[in-house]
Amino acid sequence: MTNRRRFLEKGLLTIPFLSNLNVFGQDSVKKPIVISTWDSGIPVNEAAMTILKEPKGRALDAVEKGANQIEDTINCCVGLGGNPDREGKVTLDACIMDEKMNCGGVAFMENIKHPISVARKVMEDTPHVLLVGEGARQFAIEKGFKAEKDELSDDAKKSYENWLKKSEYKPVKNIELQQNNAFEKRKGPFAPQFLENGDFNHDTMALLALDHSGNISGACTTSGMGFKMRGRVGDSPIIGAGLYVDNEVGACTGSGQGEEVIRIAGAAMVVEFMRQGKSPEMACKLAIERLVKINPKKARDFQVGFIALNKKGQYGSYAVNPGFVFSVTTAPGNGRVIKAKSYFN
Ligand code: ASP
Repeated sequence: MTNRRRFLEKGLLTIPFLSNLNVFGQDSVKKPIVISTWDSGIPVNEAAMTILKEPKGRALDAVEKGANQIEDTINCCVGLGGNPDREGKVTLDACIMDEKMNCGGVAFMENIKHPISVARKVMEDTPHVLLVGEGARQFAIEKGFKAEKDELSDDAKKSYENWLKKSEYKPVKNIELQQNNAFEKRKGPFAPQFLENGDFNHDTMALLALDHSGNISGACTTSGMGFKMRGRVGDSPIIGAGLYVDNEVGACTGSGQGEEVIRIAGAAMVVEFMRQGKSPEMACKLAIERLVKINPKKARDFQVGFIALNKKGQYGSYAVNPGFVFSVTTAPGNGRVIKAKSYFN
């Protein structure tokens, strides 16, 4: 074959492929982007963006940094300042997943400030995916994490003392909070969501990021449901339930009543709907519908909200009840809070 013919053949194969990519592929990808649960996600996204704005900033580093931001903040449902279990102990759950299907988590862990970073160590330094309780705590200390004092934050203490008066486990879904203007009663934007009457709210911090290289990672960190039974673990540290990342397709995470999310393997289900071609919002909606169908009457009384991000940087969300919001940031300082649509109005 002459050189000229070979050149022409190669050219014919290459040029349409390249132009396809330009028209339908890379050009339409919006990156970097980070999305997270709740309005408390704004400062979290901002922390993640310090990594994502760099051309080589990795989504995995970004989601860890974002989660650390809120773990350092007093908040009713995240970190050591969070609401305790019914025995007065704060126990933390977290998980993280990268673009290569690597994942790690910790659950029912006490006294360690940054559970998401311990989860990352589980992912990177052990052959396991999930460490729990005292084993997770000991692993963290071996890895150089400091054991913090075993004491409740002032807000959590007040909230626990109020709760003890009735000692009733009754999660308050955000719709009621919204009706009572509880969001407005908060001390300011992104203020801790402790409520005066000892009731508690969902506020798990879960975030997904797409970096300049087109890779997706996710992280989820929480102190779980306040006043839960000792040893209770929700969806948040469970890969496939509270978080799932498939770099070919997209990722999903969320917040809300963990037991309901585990039941349907929520995050993995949303990713599978996106694999079938559904938009992120439609994928979240279909999973929420699946969840409501199990017991529509009961579903009126709990909250679950999913957020999802696909490879093109498109995002979406859907919740069981009104009141779920999420935060989206595409450049430093441009974060905005979006109200999710919901099954019930
Ligand atoms: N999903 C968390 C759990 O069930 C709670 C929350 O999002 O507020 O532990």
